[in-house]
Amino acid sequence: MAFNRVPRPASRVSCFSMKKLIIAIDGPSGVGKSTLSKLLARELGYLNLDTGAMYRTIALAASRKGIDASDHAALQKLCEDTLIEFSRGGGDEIVLLNGEDVSKAIRTPEISIQTADVAACPEVRKAMVARQRELGDAGGVVLEGRDIGTVVFPEADI
Ligand code: C5P
Repeated sequence: MAFNRVPRPASRVSCFSMKKLIIAIDGPSGVGKSTLSKLLARELGYLNLDTGAMYRTIALAASRKGIDASDHAALQKLCEDTLIEFSRGGGDEIVLLNGEDVSKAIRTPEISIQTADVAACPEVRKAMVARQRELGDAGGVVLEGRDIGTVVFPEADI
């Protein structure tokens, strides 16, 4: 008796897992974006790109240089001169400001307040979005922030 062999479809799972995805998580504050993206990134071995941390880092840099949030020209120059990076320090990512670990320094109440004003500057937003795209373009990243799916990566895989 002859059997017609039905060719096996290529495994979707292996194709899926080989491709390094761009995963965008957005939504208003307090809905659990950070918790979800941290866990997801850890599970997948992806970079967890906390965009709020980037705005906080620019606010910290501005505060150290005495730049007021209303001085958009100075903020634009600051963004051009500032390198923001993420690095995996043990478990969670740490955020680096020109090579310095500022993960704790960006979480003070003063910086939280200043960040809202600095993040409202269009020049800062433009620079941060460009950097987020640069960091996320190659995939293997979970990006989290209120404008990720709408502005930064509208074509994200997920
Ligand atoms: O998420 P987190 O509280 O750390 O964000 C700090 C601040 O950065 C927010 O309150 C907001 O003003 C700004 N932000 C933003 N766009 C993002 C992420 C954060 O304007 N994508």
